[in-house]
Amino acid sequence: MRFLTALALLLSLVSAAPRPDGPPGDGTKGDTSATDPRPLVDSARLQKTLTRKALLDHASKLIEFAKQDPEGNRGFGGVGHNLTVQYIAKWFAQWPDYYDVKLQEFVELYSAGTAALSVEGENLEVTEFTYSPSGKPTAELAAVNNLGCEAADFPPEVDGRIALISRGTCEFGLKQGPYVPTAGVSQEIGQALLADLAAGPVVASLDIFSVNENRTTYNVLATTKGGNQDNVVQLGGHTDSIVGPGVNDNGSGFIAELEVAKALTRYKVNNAVRFSFWSAEEFGLLGAEYYVKNLPESELAKIRLYLNFDMIASPNLVYFIYDGDGSAFNLTGPAGSDQIEHLFTDFYKRNNLPSSQTAFDGRSDYGPFLEIGNIPSGGLFTGAEGIKTAEQAALYGGVAGEAYDPNYHGKGDDFNNVDIDGWLVNTKAVAHSVATYARSLKGFPVREPPAGNFTAPARKRHVHLHERGEFNALGERRVRACGHGHKVTLF
Ligand SMILES: [Zn+2]
Repeated sequence: MRFLTALALLLSLVSAAPRPDGPPGDGTKGDTSATDPRPLVDSARLQKTLTRKALLDHASKLIEFAKQDPEGNRGFGGVGHNLTVQYIAKWFAQWPDYYDVKLQEFVELYSAGTAALSVEGENLEVTEFTYSPSGKPTAELAAVNNLGCEAADFPPEVDGRIALISRGTCEFGLKQGPYVPTAGVSQEIGQALLADLAAGPVVASLDIFSVNENRTTYNVLATTKGGNQDNVVQLGGHTDSIVGPGVNDNGSGFIAELEVAKALTRYKVNNAVRFSFWSAEEFGLLGAEYYVKNLPESELAKIRLYLNFDMIASPNLVYFIYDGDGSAFNLTGPAGSDQIEHLFTDFYKRNNLPSSQTAFDGRSDYGPFLEIGNIPSGGLFTGAEGIKTAEQAALYGGVAGEAYDPNYHGKGDDFNNVDIDGWLVNTKAVAHSVATYARSLKGFPVREPPAGNFTAPARKRHVHLHERGEFNALGERRVRACGHGHKVTLF
């Protein structure tokens, strides 16, 4: 490892063109500051124009878009999400002289569906698995031994039956084996079924209806025409939801971007700022990954840092900052990630607000920036399905013992599912980070070369809903021919 790092550094010294570190108004490529009559961007001024009302007005649009969608959501490439993408593109079209706007098209496999399970006439709670095929089997249950990670765990009588497999150790796709209708039940229900099965045969009916289709979708990228284009300050958030309108996840993050982008048009910048709006995050950070993988290395090298905003208005919030210096979770980012964390820590401190740290684990769109681009990153988060502790409730208010966002990935992530005061605070934090770095990158480390050689195996994905993320592996497995055709239920 160390040798590889040293070699990469050496290559950068030989081959990388010298990149100016961007002192204000240095007249380098794309720097229009000398002729731009606008005042230079300033954090306090940029924050001042941001309002709760503007954020909520955008949120009400997301409700409309989801209503127009046949599934009632803004899943990537669907009606509700396409309206979202158009809305963002139209927003930036208001300032054709200030921003260059690009829609980046890509195609990914979409999956959605419903599942029902009844056992001996009783309906049990069950969730469909992403990428499961449709199917409506009625058959006896068969218990799979151990964790179903080895072929030998499957008893011969599983053929033609509904297999019951315990969760753990290996990925869902491996447990599932051939591509058959698959759903999940809770550990409690699973144990009850096992107990029934020990007493005699149990007949179950599984009904899975799913849509698995390739969908065309778009990232939106808006870059300031002004500022040094060799020193790009990039920020982003995802635009797709999974269930319902997705106001906190992640209307909150990308709407903050929209408002900061609007405010920025009154100012000139020394460094270029690129607002990004990622599609298909919920299916495994697909939009951000597509962007980073398809950017030429020379362009990747111009991105000085990346800031991510995904869920920044949770109703039972904590002001989490990605732990870029690794002080709390021992996962550090490329040099500069520490500075970004400290910038945000300082922001809350100056506003007399508490802040906390969250693991820098790549669970949102900054993952590919870190892992492929080796780009210093940071960002904010107000919590998802995690439970607020008593200590956090004492610091932040809210309800201890409840999720930071009780409507996380649920239909209830709607207009009322935000802490509007917290959302405004965090939108100001976005403005502060944009203003600071657009003004100057003085003292910010010069970029190290990209880490990825673009042939490295894909990172294990951690999307919000871990079941879905891990099960994404199945998308790649589905080309496999179906084997002996048993049906699978997991718990
Ligand atoms: Zn999200």
